[in-house]
Amino acid sequence: MNICHFCGNRNFRVAAIQYTYRHAGKFLIVDDVPCTKCEYCGEAYFKAEVLKRIEKEFNAIYYQGKKAKQKLSVPVERFAQIGGLTA
Ligand SMILES: [Zn+2]
Repeated sequence: MNICHFCGNRNFRVAAIQYTYRHAGKFLIVDDVPCTKCEYCGEAYFKAEVLKRIEKEFNAIYYQGKKAKQKLSVPVERFAQIGGLTA
């Protein structure tokens, strides 16, 4: 990575962030995922093998019965039903 696709900045730093993988209405949250972060806008870039590893884990959990370390119950709201915005 030498230029940020979002802001054009050229400075990056190594980081580890929480990544949410979403597929077919299902979610997998993975903590401490290694990435390169744009120092200006914060956009995170991941190596292809990192994303492949997460996708593999997602499949193992949802389709091969692997037990995840932890499970969360996540509240879901619809914006219009939490007050929305008045025009
Ligand atoms: Zn950027």
